[in-house]
Amino acid sequence: MSTKIEAVRGMNDILPEQTVLWQHVEQLLRKVVTRYGYQEIRMPVLEKTDLFHRSIGEVTDIVEKEMYTFLDRNNESLTLRPEGTACCVRAGIEHGLLYNQIQRLYYMGPMFRHERPQKGRYRQFYQFGLEAFGMHGPDIDAEIIFITARLWHELGLTNRLQLHINSLGSNVARQQYRQALVDYFSQYQAELDEDSQRRLKSNPLRILDSKNPHLQDLIARAPQLMNYLDEESQQHFTQLKGLLDKAGIVYRVNPRLVRGLDYYNRTVFEWVMGEMGAQNTVCAGGRYDGLVEQLGGQATPAIGFALGLERLIILLQEIQLKVGQEPEVYFIMAGTEARLEGLALAEQLRTELPLLTLLCDCTGGSFKNQIKRADKSGARLALILGENEINNKQIAVKYLRENEGRQEILPLKALIKFLTDFL
Ligand code: ATP
Ligand code: MG
Repeated sequence: MSTKIEAVRGMNDILPEQTVLWQHVEQLLRKVVTRYGYQEIRMPVLEKTDLFHRSIGEVTDIVEKEMYTFLDRNNESLTLRPEGTACCVRAGIEHGLLYNQIQRLYYMGPMFRHERPQKGRYRQFYQFGLEAFGMHGPDIDAEIIFITARLWHELGLTNRLQLHINSLGSNVARQQYRQALVDYFSQYQAELDEDSQRRLKSNPLRILDSKNPHLQDLIARAPQLMNYLDEESQQHFTQLKGLLDKAGIVYRVNPRLVRGLDYYNRTVFEWVMGEMGAQNTVCAGGRYDGLVEQLGGQATPAIGFALGLERLIILLQEIQLKVGQEPEVYFIMAGTEARLEGLALAEQLRTELPLLTLLCDCTGGSFKNQIKRADKSGARLALILGENEINNKQIAVKYLRENEGRQEILPLKALIKFLTDFL
């Protein structure tokens, strides 16, 4: 026997048993955001490497150590997208969607990061992302947060997730804050880990985003960005909080929330399960008013979020959300003649009853085995067609879950009416 080839580490197959739940979530996401007027955009999974260097930032976890980057056959450096915002902005600029326009866009698909695989952290994972362009006021920030809150509500997750919000202010405010952070952390240089020591020089805000448990105390006592905010950002944040309060959205202002990418300004938010920590963030986003210009477009205000589908699925499994995938009806055909008539009849039923899920037994096995498979399929009803039934223009129906497993014989022409009432 040859050796088996396995999947790449950190990249998962999603099996039929799980795809039911995935499809349920995906459909719900699409439905909810469509109700708010968002439209789907689909981008390639490969982009020029430079796109991510210029947007996410050189001194971030993603760009420093997580990207799948390689030279293609033309010696061009390409990268498997680690996130969708940069790609969406690139596409928006390229196709003239952003200049002087309002756009509400969403996307869904795989992202790639070379991280240490563990529960809730993979090398290929799926994100649902949403971006709104052309609006600078806090209303759109609020709308986006309302959307996420509605998603949790519809999935039954409201009391599992907490909203953390913060404001990063303007670039100028962040520059001043940066100096305050350097002054503070420099006093404790010996206590910092290697990454943070390096970041002290290159990107001190990133230290606040560190997942190292030993640094959490030190980080908690660091100066707070909130005290350095510019007047306008402060107003924007106050208005946003007012809008959230008015809509009854509960939040916690978390001054440590800085997000792991460079392009954010003003509003940032995360939906977190339990306490803040590794793999606890299900959904994260914020404003990125400078990014469109930074990537070669006209200055355009923008805000968006991305949610990790695997982490959402883990939560849904925890609350044991049940989504049915059983067929409603299982069709048993005994004998050659019955298979000939039966498959044609099945097609007719599917045409007449668009909502019916009908599974035909195509094994040609014994009646007894077919009945066993019908039961195992989880179907509620079995249709049975044999030689007798064909001769008498009848069909047998057997309840598999209800009515004590009763079996009845119907005239064939009464079947559609019977199934319509049954469904
Ligand atoms: P973390 O702090 O957990 O590393 P992040 O800040 O790197 O997350 P973002 O870039 O904000 O994550 O991505 C948004 C969401 O995508 C996350 O909140 C999470 O749900 C999901 N996500 C990010 N990286 C992974 C991963 N490697 N595997 C699974 N889901 C992920
Ligand atoms: Mg990360």
